[in-house]
This record gives sequence, structure tokens and C-alpha cells, in this order.
Amino acid sequence: MPDTPPVFRFAPSPNGLLHLGHALSAVLNHDMAKAANGRFLLRIEDIDQTRCRQEFEAAIVEDLAWLGLDWERPMRRQSEHLDAYASALERLNGLGVLYPSVMTRGEIKAAVAEAEADGQTWPRDPDGSPLYPGRERTYSTGERTALLESGRAYAWRLDMQKAISLLGNASLTWSESGAGPVGETGIIVADPGAWGDVILSRSDAPSSYHLSVVTDDALQGVTHVVRGRDLYHSTAVHRLLQHLLDLPEPLYHHHRLILGPDGRKLSKSNQDTGIAAFRAAGHTPQEVRALVV
Ligand code: GLU
Repeated sequence: MPDTPPVFRFAPSPNGLLHLGHALSAVLNHDMAKAANGRFLLRIEDIDQTRCRQEFEAAIVEDLAWLGLDWERPMRRQSEHLDAYASALERLNGLGVLYPSVMTRGEIKAAVAEAEADGQTWPRDPDGSPLYPGRERTYSTGERTALLESGRAYAWRLDMQKAISLLGNASLTWSESGAGPVGETGIIVADPGAWGDVILSRSDAPSSYHLSVVTDDALQGVTHVVRGRDLYHSTAVHRLLQHLLDLPEPLYHHHRLILGPDGRKLSKSNQDTGIAAFRAAGHTPQEVRALVV
């Protein structure tokens, strides 16, 4: 059988301009693919149409080409593949691990504040957000049908404990070649439960990051996921979804984050560390590469 080449991807969201942290991620993916005689893909993660803009996508393409990167065409744009995420969601629904939920961000915040004012410690996910406090998970079939027919906006959430129970005795792990937040490499035990009942689809964004990323990595045959350390813990959710959806397991490499002068992770609104700003200031692509790798 002929050897299939490894597949790497850089998967930015076009909701702002790329900064030095993205340059590191893109260059690393590109160079690792090249060193392994592999393929390098660019994927535009534009599921959240309320935040993504066409002009940012054009800027991404321009910045990456200026850095000297070359990727396979056509690039995948998630907004053009909603049916793929809908089928994945349907499959999960068939497993009985989804439920519709209605609490808004504001309602969640208020419910958690009330519980904490009562002296309870409310559990938080690895990103610091409170776990979902709603009780729709325990609704009877009748209550659920009434909710779905009520015309209220709802989001599909993963019933995390039920999903984990479907693993049976199988242990959920991933293979990590980068350094995690505390420096682990090797086989990492995934703890998806820490995330609670994550959202997989909502009325204004038909697929969540988690659902579309695992669907696309599988559909595109991605063998190596190379991305920032900020997504290290999310890998646990991705491994769980891959298990439930019977998708192959890629290798993972979470790279360091580039911090701003204030010691915080760079953000897309941080204009002076934008790749375009370096270009406008007369820096060469080699100079920008040298800053990050
Ligand atoms: N679209 C995600 C982001 O811009 C990255 C997804 C991934 O690499 O898994 O943060």
C-alpha cells in the first residue's frame, strides 16, 4: 500500500487580523508539513457569522502569502459545509447524548452568582467559565418536546456524563508532542468532564467550534493538529467527540503562545503585533519569521 503523506492544517477564524501568535502557528504547521513531506492545508473557521468578516479572510490570505507560505487550493471554508456539521450533530442526537438548552449567557451568570452568594462553589471549566446550571438535561420527553415546540431559541448541548458513560471501559487519551500548560508530552489522559455540557450548536451559529473542528479534521484527513496551547484542554472534548462519531485520532502538538508586553496572550485587536503592521512598518517576512520560530 502506498504511504499516505501526513496532513497538517492552519485553521484561523476570520474575526480579526492575524498577529505574531498566528504567524508562529502557521509557519510551524507549514514547516513541519514540509519536513515530513506532508500536505499543508488552510481552513477558514467562519462558522460564527456574527463575528467573521470577508475582509479579514482576505487579510489572512494576504498575510500568509506574504510570509511565504503555500497551501493547497481550494481552501475549506466552514460556512460552506454546514450540512457536514448537521449530520455529525444528527448522529450524536441518535446516540441520545444531546439536549436542547435555553439559558442565555446573562441568565447563566445570574444563576451562578446567586448560587455563589449562597455560599456554593460553582464548578468552572478549564477556561474559567461556569459549567451550565440549567436543568433541561433532566427534562422528561414531554418537557423536551414542549421546549422544542415553544419557539424559544435553544442550543444543543452535549450531556457530558452520558457521553462519557458511552466510553465504557475505554480510556480516552491523546498523543501530545508539544508542551502542555504544565509541560506534559506523551500520552495524555483526557478529562472532557471538566468542560461540563458544552454547546455543539446554537440558533445563530449552527455548529460550535468543537463540532466543526473534529468533523473537518476527519473529513480532510488531518493527521497532525498543531495549534496554540490555549486549545490544549479542548483536546479532551475533541477526543470524546471523535470517539462518539467514530473518527480517526490525529496526533496533537500544542505550541507556546506569544505574549504581549503586558504578559497576556495576544489578541486580534492588538494592532501593533499584527502581521500586517509589521509589513507596513517595512519589516521583511524573514524578520517576522525570526521573531516567532
Ligand atoms: N479556529 C481556531 C482559532 O482560530 C483554531 C482551531 C484549531 O486549530 O483547532 O483559534
